[in-house]
Amino acid sequence: MKVRGSRRSERLRTRTIALVRKLKKALAEARRLGLFAEDRELLACRLCGLQEDVAIDGRLLVTVPGNRKCDTGLRFARVDKQGNWWRCPHCKSVVKGPRIT
Ligand SMILES: [Zn+2]
Repeated sequence: MKVRGSRRSERLRTRTIALVRKLKKALAEARRLGLFAEDRELLACRLCGLQEDVAIDGRLLVTVPGNRKCDTGLRFARVDKQGNWWRCPHCKSVVKGPRIT
C-alpha cells in the first residue's frame, strides 16, 4: 500500500515538474511577444503620471496622462530582485510595485 502511494506521488511530482517547465516556457514566450505575463499589479508613477495598462490583445502599454491609448515604448525597470520597487523610465522616480498575493 505504501509503495503504491509512493509511485503515485512520484508520478504526480514528475507531471507537476513537466507542467511547471511548460508554464515557464509559455511565460517566456509571452514576454518575448510583449504580452503582460507578470505576477504583479500594473505600475503607475505618481510623480509624472506614466502608467502601465494591458491592451485587449494582452500587449503591455505604458502611457502618458494625455494619451492612454498609445504605447510610449518605455518600460519600468525593476530596482530590486523581488520586484517590489521599480524605476520610472520617464522621471526616474522609484515606484512601489505591489505583488498579487
Ligand atoms: Zn515618473
